[in-house]
Amino acid sequence: ATMPPLLSAIATAGRHGVLVKSAVAMERLGEIDTAALDKTGTLTEGTPEVTDVSPLPGSGLDADALLALAAAAEHPSEHPLARAVVGAARARGLRIAPATGFAATPGRGVSAVVGGCVVEVGRVEAGGAGAADRMHLVDGVRDLDDRMHGADGMQDAADRRSVVAHGMQDVVDRPSPADGRRNPARSDLGSHPHPHPSAGTTVLVTRDSTPVGTLTLTDRLRPAAPAATAALAALTGTTPVLLTGDNAHAAGRVAEATGITDVRAELFPEDKVNAVRDLQLAGRKVLFVGDGVNDAPALAAAHSGLAMGRAGSDLALETADAVVVRDDLTAVPAVVRLSRTARRLVL
Ligand code: ADP
Ligand code: MG
Repeated sequence: ATMPPLLSAIATAGRHGVLVKSAVAMERLGEIDTAALDKTGTLTEGTPEVTDVSPLPGSGLDADALLALAAAAEHPSEHPLARAVVGAARARGLRIAPATGFAATPGRGVSAVVGGCVVEVGRVEAGGAGAADRMHLVDGVRDLDDRMHGADGMQDAADRRSVVAHGMQDVVDRPSPADGRRNPARSDLGSHPHPHPSAGTTVLVTRDSTPVGTLTLTDRLRPAAPAATAALAALTGTTPVLLTGDNAHAAGRVAEATGITDVRAELFPEDKVNAVRDLQLAGRKVLFVGDGVNDAPALAAAHSGLAMGRAGSDLALETADAVVVRDDLTAVPAVVRLSRTARRLVL
């Protein structure tokens, strides 16, 4: 007997490195008219590197101590940022202290008890992993902002020396600004939610709710990202949407490199799922491509959810309708095309 077209398409998708979980899932892939893509681990490699380690003045920590503290809290996490922090600490030969009471908040960060203190690593705007005192965080961001821009708003190149995990031999403990210095021009944080000038992701480290420093992590675009995005745009007739928990600056860089114009940054997992739902309420059939635990609700809500398999979280792989097993982003438009061909044969 000849194989039914949808089953045959599943077999072909498998040869292309995409595991499609059912005939229904195969069929729905061809029905989508809009693509929404996660950034970290989907359009980017998902293997970031620590490119800056900055203890805050008064923290009593040097760069190594800050990195070791963050690594202790991140150690139990499988998040790409966590793996990068732990990897950087190991590369520096630092001792990673045992942690207890670990908790991860998807799309926000982690917290754990290290050496009797609650250590949180996470989004600046999210207030660490959630429990840290808001005012402390705002002060911490202001200090960071002053240090990055200088009191006169100029960025001091020597002060901004930052170094990459590859060597990390040169991680500098940057000189502290004059104590208590504040930049009045930038004191209105409300209108400056993204003070960090780097294209990377800056995360805040707090100890017992007090900010002790920041880490910046930088990821690389997947080489296939621009072509895959363009192919999805051509297939759907609309520009894909970028949905990310990362900051607007890092999101903008990836959008620019892939030709995406609809960028939504600093989203929490619930915002990603709402963005998908809103598109679908407007009559669109959305393909969502993601990799993280934070993407699982959006993968479930989308008309079709596709997970990146290599670095993808178990929850994302289980929730998705299909998994890109071979780590190739061009398989995403390819499988949509396969489904359309199969559906034409069925109908
Ligand atoms: P994305 O949507 O870009 O894939 P996530 O939703 O996983 O990213 O994370 C959003 C943001 O939350 C990150 O950019 C980071 O600031 C913070 N974050 C999440 N998990 C962690 C973690 N384990 N350690 C530090 N920061 C984290
Ligand atoms: Mg991701």
